[in-house]
Amino acid sequence: MVHNDIPAQATIAETNPPTGSPRGLRTRLLDRFFLEGQVLETEQIAARMRRIRIGGPALHGLNWLPGQQIRIATGDPDAEGIMGRIGDLRTYSVWHYDPDAAEIHLCVMDHGEGPGATWGREAKPGLAVRFRGPEGSLTLRPDAGYHLFAGEETASAAFGPMLRAVPGHIPVYGAIETATEADRLPLHRAVALTRPLRGTASAARSQTLLDAIRAIDLPAEPGVAYLAGEARTIQMISGYLVRERHWPRRSVVTKPFWTPGKRGMD
Ligand SMILES: Cc1cc2nc3c(=O)[nH]c(=O)nc-3n(C[C@H](O)[C@H](O)[C@H](O)COP(=O)(O)OP(=O)(O)OC[C@H]3O[C@@H](n4cnc5c(N)ncnc54)[C@H](O)[C@@H]3O)c2cc1C
Repeated sequence: MVHNDIPAQATIAETNPPTGSPRGLRTRLLDRFFLEGQVLETEQIAARMRRIRIGGPALHGLNWLPGQQIRIATGDPDAEGIMGRIGDLRTYSVWHYDPDAAEIHLCVMDHGEGPGATWGREAKPGLAVRFRGPEGSLTLRPDAGYHLFAGEETASAAFGPMLRAVPGHIPVYGAIETATEADRLPLHRAVALTRPLRGTASAARSQTLLDAIRAIDLPAEPGVAYLAGEARTIQMISGYLVRERHWPRRSVVTKPFWTPGKRGMD
């Protein structure tokens, strides 16, 4: 899968075969729908999370807001057929974006044999990466009196840049659950968060996370809540905020990332 023959600074046009050939047509079609970069570096940022740094000229000047995600084509970049080259699309929150360096960092969790987890596990420097540009509604509400974050390992990949972007004078609350301490991502303003451990319990329908949110001493007035990660846990926490604490629904931003038995949730 490693694509070593594209020099780091080469443009896509330079690497295209002649446009009249079937391969040229396929490449132009891919270019129309996908951006292309290259894995520059990987790092084991937490016990089951790899940080994957992707760079290339196409990553200059993207429109990205903290909390948004990109969709990765997990196929084999060297496959002959277009579908093989795209493979399954899987969505990953952007952990860090540097428009000047033209780099995006992702944090991909290793939890099984699905196309996304396998792509994240096997990515190494030189791998060509095709992806759709940043998108998504999980972004900070600028008018919030305070922000409340709730989610597990995968959600913390989106919360990381959101927490870095909250102005220092705006209060932050939240609970970020992980299986173990070693699964925690380094988060800005972590002292304002509780970080419950669920141990061997499932992250789905997590009572641990709900209890941790219940235990937070929140102001009487609603702020804005960001609930991400496992879908049914999100439903439980959203239900608690709306029904028990009487938050307006519009103050609760939800983004399910995965749920047991469902593949590729976006
Ligand atoms: C907006 C959005 C942002 C996302 N951001 C990230 C991110 O930053 N980092 C990240 O790692 N993932 C993230 N995800 C999840 C990611 O897109 C994939 O769904 C995930 O990597 C599983 O893909 P897969 O191909 O390996 O497994 P699939 O083939 O899609 O699923 C196989 C099985 O794995 C289970 N599964 C999926 N995720 C988990 C999990 N975390 N723990 C336990 N079981 C799981 C599924 O329920 C399913 O039963 C995000 C999803 C969305 C929608």
